[in-house]
Amino acid sequence: MKKIVFATHNAHKLEEVRAILKNTAKIVGLADIGCHEDIPETADTLEGNAKLKSQYIYEKFGYDCISDDTGLEIEALNGKPGVLSARYAGEPSNSVNNMLKVLEEMKDKSNRNAQFRTVISLVENGKYCEFEGIVKGKISREPSGKGGFGYDPIFIPEGYSGSFAELSADVKNAISHRALAINKLVKWIRDN
Ligand code: IMP
Repeated sequence: MKKIVFATHNAHKLEEVRAILKNTAKIVGLADIGCHEDIPETADTLEGNAKLKSQYIYEKFGYDCISDDTGLEIEALNGKPGVLSARYAGEPSNSVNNMLKVLEEMKDKSNRNAQFRTVISLVENGKYCEFEGIVKGKISREPSGKGGFGYDPIFIPEGYSGSFAELSADVKNAISHRALAINKLVKWIRDN
């Protein structure tokens, strides 16, 4: 079975991707290859950051690698917070402050359209591919729900009346931007 490093320090994401790819590839984490450093995420696009991370591991450690970057893109804010999603309200990263900043910036906006977008970068034998997953929806007027993380309490996915934070983990994981991108990656690995 193919061995692929997932360039994340997030144990939850590692487990999620490992479970999805369990019959397709052996997914190992950064600790497994002795990488304990923070990988730079200095690009100004999701695509750029995802590629920076997979490229870093491939060039420094020599392993095939996947990495991901996700952002919430809001139409009325010209695509923000986008690549800045994790630290929109400043350092250190704080989900509640990030949501409050978005709600404040959106308080006079009638166009509530938004999307979550995940980009996964795969490098295999020095060749790079990208996989994108998008979920469209709307920004609510106030947070609701206790599940999920990040901006989930203020994002209402298309076709649902409640926020991502009000959906069960199973439902969210079946329809999420990350799941869509991962499914494209799985198909690509199986076909190649
Ligand atoms: P990352 O690239 O997965 O680290 O995501 C960057 C930021 O986007 C996170 O810090 C969260 O604030 C936000 N984010 C990513 N995925 C989700 C999600 O599924 N729901 C809500 N917020 C998310």
